[in-house]
Amino acid sequence: MITVPKHPDYSKNSAKPSEHYPCVVCGKPASNPRYMVHLHNGGSTIVTEDEAEQLDPAGDMSLYPLGSDCLKKHPELKPYAQDQRVKLDWKALYADLYRQTCGDERAPESAVMDDARRRQEVLNSYKNEPEDIEDVMERQRLHWEDRRAIERDYTQLY
Ligand SMILES: [Zn+2]
Repeated sequence: MITVPKHPDYSKNSAKPSEHYPCVVCGKPASNPRYMVHLHNGGSTIVTEDEAEQLDPAGDMSLYPLGSDCLKKHPELKPYAQDQRVKLDWKALYADLYRQTCGDERAPESAVMDDARRRQEVLNSYKNEPEDIEDVMERQRLHWEDRRAIERDYTQLY
């Protein structure tokens, strides 16, 4: 349980009319938020789902958005942030596509991860902001899926 670290401009930011719920920290409209937090005590406290079950439901406000920037500025909120992005087993999907696309059905997990790390190193040498290996794998996986879709279309045509 933690007090919402409200930004001094929260009231000003959230007063502007918007079709989106405001971020609980800064009050700016959060469209398509990736993270939600469970508000309690009329909105002054952020709780975990377990804590919410123990508390008086009268103060339960349910889920509200937490902007990604505000989560970065407040790492203490991490344990409370509920990621709305569909959880994919990206490692397994990446390994699957690596084995199919690279034609090595028996490639061990270590070879697959080495491939991902090589890609990450190459990408990061071009970028000021180092990229997370999960993001690198996710992007490469999408690229492989596209390639396979193109190949599939091609074989259907000819
Ligand atoms: Zn915010």
